[in-house]
Amino acid sequence: MTDLATKNNLAQCLSRVKQQIAEASTTSLHPEPAVELLAVSKKHPAAKIQQLFALGQSRFGENYVQEGVAKVQALAHLAIDWHFIGPLQSNKSRLVAEHFHWLHTLDSLKLARRLNAQRPVDMAPLNILIQVNISQQASKSGISLAQVAALAGAIDTLDNLCLRGLMCIPAPEDESHLRADFLAMHEQFSALQKQYPQLDTLSMGMSADLGLAIECGSTMVRVGSAIFGQRP
Ligand SMILES: *Cc1c(COP(=O)(O)O)cnc(C)c1O
Repeated sequence: MTDLATKNNLAQCLSRVKQQIAEASTTSLHPEPAVELLAVSKKHPAAKIQQLFALGQSRFGENYVQEGVAKVQALAHLAIDWHFIGPLQSNKSRLVAEHFHWLHTLDSLKLARRLNAQRPVDMAPLNILIQVNISQQASKSGISLAQVAALAGAIDTLDNLCLRGLMCIPAPEDESHLRADFLAMHEQFSALQKQYPQLDTLSMGMSADLGLAIECGSTMVRVGSAIFGQRP
């Protein structure tokens, strides 16, 4: 495809996704704040991110540390809000602490302490979402709902981290199980917000289930293939 064709296609997909978000938002359990769109750009080149940025999209999510850092550096001249949304091993935490604005996958106090120590003092605190293993899948990342309050309390004491909310990746399930998982996340998020009023972000919903996630109270959907097409 020519550059122009790619750009027209990205523009169409982006506006279709925004339309879906707007429609689902009318049925949301949590109408405020407005739902934000995180464009998940893993495996897609920096040039496509730049095209989407020119179309007004400024929030991007990456899953792999080296690939993400390379894009952050290549696009340093653009005011992009970079979110790390992949699993993070502690030996790579420094790269995330030094290059990203958000981490969606915090699941241990040990990792929180490392990131807090590694966050450069001239950067704003790293925004943190606690990942919840909401479908209780044996081999998946994230903590249980029962562990959330204790980890939130510990993160709240770390000056270079700013706790913003919760994130989940439910198991591929039928709609009724998915809805139950999303609603359980929303309930935990609302309870936590009473204690920590700065919490404003419930990251749930991807290309295939963003409408349902928004209906159940998501405030940020992470959308890859519906914007970029299939990953190479
Ligand atoms: C890849 C990914 C997404 C986007 O998935 P799509 O189905 O392409 O929208 C969202 N969240 C996480 C954590 C991902 O790894």
